[in-house]
Amino acid sequence: QDKRESLYVTNQWANKFFREQLWDSDLGRSIGLSYFKERGYREDIIKKFELGYSPDAWTSLVDKAQEEGYSKEFLIELGLAVERDDKSLYDRFRGRVLFPIHNLTGRVLGFGGRTLKTDKTVPKYVNSPESEIYHKSNILYGLHLAKKAIMDNDVCYLVEGYADVLSCHQAGVENVVSSSGTSLTTGQIKLISRYSKNVVILYDGDAAGIKASLRGTDMLLEEGLNVKVLLFPDGNDPDSYIKTFGASAFKEYLSKHKEDFVFYKTNILLKDTGGDPIKRAEVIREVVQSIALIPDEIKVSVYLKQCSTLLDIEERVLLSELNKIRIDTA
Ligand code: ATP
Ligand code: MN
Ligand code: MN
Ligand code: MN
Repeated sequence: QDKRESLYVTNQWANKFFREQLWDSDLGRSIGLSYFKERGYREDIIKKFELGYSPDAWTSLVDKAQEEGYSKEFLIELGLAVERDDKSLYDRFRGRVLFPIHNLTGRVLGFGGRTLKTDKTVPKYVNSPESEIYHKSNILYGLHLAKKAIMDNDVCYLVEGYADVLSCHQAGVENVVSSSGTSLTTGQIKLISRYSKNVVILYDGDAAGIKASLRGTDMLLEEGLNVKVLLFPDGNDPDSYIKTFGASAFKEYLSKHKEDFVFYKTNILLKDTGGDPIKRAEVIREVVQSIALIPDEIKVSVYLKQCSTLLDIEERVLLSELNKIRIDTA
C-alpha cells in the first residue's frame, strides 16, 4: 500500500537524520557518540545497529522533516512528532541516543531512545508507539541481524534489552534477540520458532528478570520450544556482565551455567521454602504445572522423571498431579 510505504520511507529518513546527528554534528559526537564509546561499544557495532542521536531541542527533526516535505500526519502516526493542542509539533525524541527497530527485511519500524541523564525522574527509555507498520507484539529487536546465526547454531538467546543485544554481538554471540522490556508474546515466540526450537533465556539477574523468566518459560513451553535459563550473578544483565568480565568469560558462563527449565524453576522456588513441607508441596505443583504445558508427551515423561529425581518424589505422584492439572485446565 501507498500509506505503509510512505511510513517506511519517513522512518528511513528519520533513521538517517539521527545517524547524521550522531556522526556529523558536534553535539552528537561529543554527547551521543561519546556515550556509546564510554559504554564500550566499538564503531563497527554502532554502525551495524545504525545507532543515532536526537538533539536536545524541541523541533530539530520536525523542522527538517517538514522542510523536506515529509507529511505531518505520518510524522505523528510514527510517533516521531507529537502534536500540541495548538496543532504545532515537537520532537518525541530529544537528547537521547537511539536504537532503530527493524523488521526481518531490515526496514525501520520505530525507535527506542535512551536518556543520557542519570536523573531517575525521566523515563530511561522512550519508545515509538504502535503504528500501522509497527506492531510490538510481533517484533523482536535484533532478529534481522540474528536469524542466520540462530539457524546456524540452532539456538536463540533471549535477552531483555537493546544494550544486551549489542554487547552480545560485540562479544561474538550473534544469535540473540530482545523483546525490549515488554513481556514475551506468542507472536514473538512463533517468530523465533521459524529459525530454531531451542531458546535460552538470559534475563537480568534481578527480581524483575527472574519473574519474567518464569513467565517466559511457560509461554515458550506452551509453543513447544525447548527452554533453558541462565541467570547472571549480582543483578547483572548480559551487557554489564560482558563489560565487567569480558567476552570470553561471558561465553564460558553461557556454556557452563545454562540450566534446563525444570532445574531452574525448581531451584528458584525451593530457595524460598526453607524446608517447610507445605511450601515444598507447592513447589512440586508449580513445576508440574509448567511441565503440563508441554505439547509433546515424550518430553513430558522425560521431564517428569527428572523432576522426580530432583525433588525426590515418586514419579506416579507427579503423574497423578499432572493429570489433575490437565483435567482442571481442559
Ligand atoms: P541500560 O543498560 O541502557 O541501562 P537495560 O536494557 O539494561 O538498559 P532495563 O532497565 O534492564 O534496561 O530494561 C530492559 C529493557 O526494557 C530496555 O532495554 C528497554 O527496551 C525497556 N525499558 C526499560 N525502561 C523502560 C521505560 N521506562 N519505558 C519503556 N521501556 C523501557
Ligand atoms: Mn532490568
Ligand atoms: Mn537490563
Ligand atoms: Mn543494562
